[in-house]
Amino acid sequence: MTIRETGLPERAYDVAIIGGGNLGLWTAHRLAARSFGTIAVLERGWAGGGATTRSAGVVRQQGGSYVAALLGRLSRTLYLELGDRLGIDSGFREHGYYIMAQSEGDKVVFLELINVRAEAGVDSEWVEPHEGKRRFHDLDWNLFTGATYCAQDGFVHPAIAARNITYAALDDPSVDLYEMCEVSSIEHSGNLYSLETTRGTIAAERIVNAGGPRGSREVGTMVDVDVPVRAVRHQVVTFPFLPDGVTHPLPLMFNLGKGYYVRPEEQGALLGMSNPADESDRSDRYQLDYDFGYHNKLRLEWEAEFPALRNLPISRSWAASIDYTPDHLPIIDQPREGFFVVAAGGHGMMWGPALGEKTAELIAEGNISELPSGDIELVRFSEQGRSAAADSIALPFPQGE
Ligand SMILES: Cc1cc2nc3c(=O)[nH]c(=O)nc-3n(C[C@H](O)[C@H](O)[C@H](O)COP(=O)(O)OP(=O)(O)OC[C@H]3O[C@@H](n4cnc5c(N)ncnc54)[C@H](O)[C@@H]3O)c2cc1C
Repeated sequence: MTIRETGLPERAYDVAIIGGGNLGLWTAHRLAARSFGTIAVLERGWAGGGATTRSAGVVRQQGGSYVAALLGRLSRTLYLELGDRLGIDSGFREHGYYIMAQSEGDKVVFLELINVRAEAGVDSEWVEPHEGKRRFHDLDWNLFTGATYCAQDGFVHPAIAARNITYAALDDPSVDLYEMCEVSSIEHSGNLYSLETTRGTIAAERIVNAGGPRGSREVGTMVDVDVPVRAVRHQVVTFPFLPDGVTHPLPLMFNLGKGYYVRPEEQGALLGMSNPADESDRSDRYQLDYDFGYHNKLRLEWEAEFPALRNLPISRSWAASIDYTPDHLPIIDQPREGFFVVAAGGHGMMWGPALGEKTAELIAEGNISELPSGDIELVRFSEQGRSAAADSIALPFPQGE
């Protein structure tokens, strides 16, 4: 593959992928692995520079539905395989993950999810508070009714994940990456799509909409397809160190009800949070303003539950737009002949490799194995469509538009 710095070629590509984030790049790589013709990745900024490198990188197989668990398991495998294939570090770190239950009701749901995940080949277990206290003493387990735990969950360093998948795509001569190349309109004539971009016009037989939180919906409107990918602020803070005696590196933890999670980060920890009161943002801006008001409010909660994080200085903090879908599940579909959509529902690091693989499968083979169509196709959002069971292990995203 070459990184194109000049104009666009006259010849038509077999596939043009709009968006060079984790999803677009994995789709390109998995198509190339199938020797599926010529592929152009059109990215308005830098590859990986959207939500991908701004993320926290958590890779969790403990999904809240069969599809979520399956995608998490497949993605973990693909990250590790890619590192091996390239002969460089995969960026994946396996530290184990506790999903905290806060009520007896949570406990009932979580116990059932252990079975659902097992069907998808994911091994998770129930941990009672007394056992949790013994294994992970840095949390105040008196505030929880227990947790589910998966030893093989962890996180991927977002910058390393973006480097590796860009590098993997670069490795194949059938893939061209065009950066600083924003797609502004799409025409369809005969069997070709013609894309107007800031670097000129490009033609392709098929298009993949991998525009992420700040592009999927807009690219959909270019061909009159409603893609219900919304964007809302999500924010992250990191702490430079942990007090003496605290487990290091920490296992990961997620307080579902309060919408925050913690993972290890260098010598310290990283905490991600979503404010349930934040509204969906339909502007075309990235929401980069960090909300310290909400940080200070939630801090009282996380410091009570996770005393090891009390009064720690901050090394970094940032906010960005995260994508979400109404049921927190992904989208893989072909709503128009030759026009494909892939979106992660806010889980593009833990599901990105698997979604790229399954999108490539749909394009190259015409169908998708393993994933029930009712959980991934766009029709589930329409009035006549069946609504899939939502992924119950997800951040508290807004309910409406
Ligand atoms: C703060 C934060 C923390 C997160 N933490 C996690 C986490 O721990 N685990 C997890 O799984 N997920 C996490 N996410 C979500 C995850 O980052 C996203 O789901 C994932 O990056 C989506 O990948 P993508 O390729 O769809 O989108 P992106 O990475 O945004 O890529 C889409 C690309 O499309 C480009 N584009 C858009 N429109 C056009 C156009 N018209 N022409 C050309 N290019 C265009 C954009 O520039 C962008 O680079 C987090 C997100 C945020 C913001």
